[in-house]
Amino acid sequence: MPTSAELHERRQAAVARGVAHATSIYAKRAKNAEIWSEDGKRYIDFGAGIAVVNTGHQHPKIVAAVEEQLKAFSHVCFQVTPYESYVSLAERLNAIAPVERPAKTMLVSTGAEAVENAIKIARAFTGRPGIVSFSGGFHGRTLMGMALTGKVVPYKKGFGPFPADVYNVAFPNTYHGVTSEESLASLKSLFKYVADPSSIAAVIVEPVQGEGGFYIAPFDFLRALRAICDEHGILLIADEIQTGFARTGKMFGLEHSGVKADVVSMAKGLAGGFPLSAITGRAEVMDAANPGGLGGTYAGSPIACAAAHAVLDVIEEEKLCDRANAIGAIILDRCNKIKNSNLNCVGDVRGLGAMCAIELVKDKASAEPAPQLTQALMKTANENGLILLSCGTYGNVIRFLVPLTASDTIVGEGMDIFEASLTEAVNRVA
Ligand code: PMP
Repeated sequence: MPTSAELHERRQAAVARGVAHATSIYAKRAKNAEIWSEDGKRYIDFGAGIAVVNTGHQHPKIVAAVEEQLKAFSHVCFQVTPYESYVSLAERLNAIAPVERPAKTMLVSTGAEAVENAIKIARAFTGRPGIVSFSGGFHGRTLMGMALTGKVVPYKKGFGPFPADVYNVAFPNTYHGVTSEESLASLKSLFKYVADPSSIAAVIVEPVQGEGGFYIAPFDFLRALRAICDEHGILLIADEIQTGFARTGKMFGLEHSGVKADVVSMAKGLAGGFPLSAITGRAEVMDAANPGGLGGTYAGSPIACAAAHAVLDVIEEEKLCDRANAIGAIILDRCNKIKNSNLNCVGDVRGLGAMCAIELVKDKASAEPAPQLTQALMKTANENGLILLSCGTYGNVIRFLVPLTASDTIVGEGMDIFEASLTEAVNRVA
């Protein structure tokens, strides 16, 4: 059996450098909120495959649904011989997505592909080219995804030119000195100095920025954004790829604000680890694209559709929105205690449901980002049996993405390791 170290050496030689890695742990098996490495070491998983296995690794219901579908057929292509599970999944998403009904849905495979299609649909409906996105936002690694993404390194550097008519404005981020009013003012400036609002098809926003640092869009800001979009006939696209499927304590992050989007992009938690993404929007918007203009060979894979149905059942049966709030409360409580301790390295603690983060700084007074400490913490946590993910424009935020099926005991054990690892890392970096 190869060790993680041996595999890592082979990986360095065989896999392109651009595909980075958060850990050097090679997974052999996983169950609920735990992963066992090739070396036989057990880890608590606070990453959930980047917000994907909200329903835990190998949930028996999801495994059973996939096994049953595998025995029937694994691929026929929905655009050739359609199947019921795609249609019924569209019906379910139409009923729950934060959009005005009647709604329609299309399925694809990845988050970036969902974003691409949301933009195509918005342009087809409005007949306008322009798209507005936000600084710190992340929307994927395809060309349009990169154009929309508001962070240059590592996502955009060296990969241009990007599609035209994409405009980036400041995201409200009070911890880093941008108020909602300033963000809205930068949108209004864009309309005055750069692009007429009548040329803008859509504004795309994450209800909580994911890769950008788990910054929560203020609810009144989202409501103001909705009003500006309405005033100018601009569509509002909610990118719920990281916030969706119970992560924030509601099925979708936008629900906290009461705002309805015109189009919603979803992926990650939708199918519990099987590649599936969805775009749900107002029916008249979704129908703007010509037949044949949307789709893809693997789009809406029957295996992934079977998994997604089971995921939606599990979220409901196991009340995972409530669990997200309970897990979030445990994490935030511990993080706030750490913030108030004498460690003096926590700048901010924030969260919506179980989408929680802790922002690490060199010291509270300067609030200077501490990316080195963040890296040291991730490494130390790995040594101590915990998988952690970072995020943030300055690389100094730890995001907690615990599977929502994790027990309080596992979450508590993970937080114990987290706290011990942070103390160790502070001493290492000092
Ligand atoms: N949008 C958001 C908000 C995301 O968090 C991500 C993935 N981190 C994407 C888009 C891209 O998804 P994928 O990696 O599946 O293409």
